[in-house]
Amino acid sequence: MSDCLFCKIGSGQIPAKVVLQDDEVLAFDDVNPQAPVHVLVIPKRHVSALNDAGAGDQALLGRLLEAAILVARKKGIAEAGYRVVANTGRDGGQTVFHLHLHVLGGRHMNWPPG
Ligand code: 5GP
Ligand code: ZN
Repeated sequence: MSDCLFCKIGSGQIPAKVVLQDDEVLAFDDVNPQAPVHVLVIPKRHVSALNDAGAGDQALLGRLLEAAILVARKKGIAEAGYRVVANTGRDGGQTVFHLHLHVLGGRHMNWPPG
């Protein structure tokens, strides 16, 4: 989508601090981190939210989760633990409507979230 912020980050039009990427997935530091480690994992292809992932997106969803694990290892938080979040829709607190996983760690994560 031409006016989508994360499509622009995914294509390199807007710069980001890249943690890892492959042909389908990009992980980059969140600009407003909520924890010592706060990385966003996105598909390079536009999908608005979890609700818009269809039957043909199973492999992509798997790759997003796999990338989240790799991010946790690369950032050194895998052993201590971390949280993976997909804010979805209005009540979920989603503000950018391009599917993304938050990978948060480096401190104890509280439960329940706000
Ligand atoms: P949401 O609220 O949709 O789950 O998460 C959107 C996230 O994107 C927020 O954590 C916000 O800080 C992050 N974000 C918004 N704009 C930018 C940007 O231009 N660059 C980066 N790296 N992160 C952004
Ligand atoms: Zn997009």
